[in-house]
Amino acid sequence: MIDTILSSQAAIDLEEKYGAHNYHPLPVVLHKGEGVFMWDVEGKRYFDFLSAYSAVNQGHCHPRIINKLIEQAKELTLTSRAFYNDKLGVAEKFVCELFGYQKALFMNSGAEANETAIKLARKWGYTKKNIPDNQAVIVAATKNFHGRTTTIISASTDASSRKGFGPFMPGFEIIEYDNDAALEKALANPNVCALWLEPIQGEAGVYVPKDGYLKTAEQLCRKHNVLLMMDEIQTGIARTGKMLASDHEGVRADILILGKALSGGVMPVSLVLADDPIMLVIKPGEHGSTFGGNPLAAAICIEALQVVADEKLAQNAERLGQVFRDRMKALMKKTKLITLVRGKGLLNAIVINDSPDSETAWNLCVEFAKNGLLAKPTHGNIIRLAPPLVITEEQIHECCDIIEKCVLKMDS
Ligand code: PLP
Repeated sequence: MIDTILSSQAAIDLEEKYGAHNYHPLPVVLHKGEGVFMWDVEGKRYFDFLSAYSAVNQGHCHPRIINKLIEQAKELTLTSRAFYNDKLGVAEKFVCELFGYQKALFMNSGAEANETAIKLARKWGYTKKNIPDNQAVIVAATKNFHGRTTTIISASTDASSRKGFGPFMPGFEIIEYDNDAALEKALANPNVCALWLEPIQGEAGVYVPKDGYLKTAEQLCRKHNVLLMMDEIQTGIARTGKMLASDHEGVRADILILGKALSGGVMPVSLVLADDPIMLVIKPGEHGSTFGGNPLAAAICIEALQVVADEKLAQNAERLGQVFRDRMKALMKKTKLITLVRGKGLLNAIVINDSPDSETAWNLCVEFAKNGLLAKPTHGNIIRLAPPLVITEEQIHECCDIIEKCVLKMDS
């Protein structure tokens, strides 16, 4: 049964009947992926312009990463951390040297990495900043997206993430994103242990803060002895044209949180990086995960990051992101349907000229799909456009032609 290729409708019906209804997918049933392409069960080919929310930066089923997966899976997949394995230390050294930190802690999902960062920041606050017990505050931003656990949604300002899931975890203060005065005021509170930010808010609709905001945040954290906790789960691993989005402003987080493309989309691998004075506040037995740091993930992570460097994916994202935004800006002159294009590297969004609860962006994505390009609205009238970073210039133009054709058709 599992090997049978169903028709699209049969697959949709199965999910509808037996799966929880916690997503609202576009009606496309995918079966195969390679590089920038995915194919549905009827054999139709699409350009992927979501990249599994930026987890597939290296392209679908990258041969080097898949080979590493097979090679390691035949040797050893999981030991738990009750014992050492011969791959974890190698991966820890690799990521510490690559990102410039003293210690690494591997987890699985992005949400788990954020939970880890929260625990680290709180424990650091009590043991190093002498914050009174249970009084630690983490400052987060409006419209943030850091995951779906009950603690993480306690810091969310998105009604659909929160409604019906209380009571919430105390210890978060929410300030307006991209507002320097709000930062200055919030960080002056002596009970604040950390500031928790995304350098670009991906889920919020690829909201890019003004130049200098992250630098100001870093400086204010230093001034007030507050840890800068940067969630680069969606923006990291070359997506925005640099290895980290923080690199655009030369900002170094005290706690760096990574996920998604760390494995090239092959399995859940997330990571928290920090220096000794922060990471070593957590002692044996105080935090962990059965699968976190498994040898399969460790081997895949090294290969996935090496692919990013060898194939110069950051440079490709930087260059083709510019091409993409130029094409979208040119399109805006021909239509009133798009009011804004924004982003960095190959993390971009177009804003559709309609209310956030209109169907226009959804219908446009359905039209994209009919024409062989997959993207999805985020927050109603915003469409995120984020292809795998292995895309070529010729392909970017082909995709811009598809987008243009669909927008002009819908506008007429
Ligand atoms: N943080 C950011 C910035 C994200 O974009 C996401 C997922 O989209 C997460 C955290 C959560 O990651 P995961 O879905 O792997 O838990």
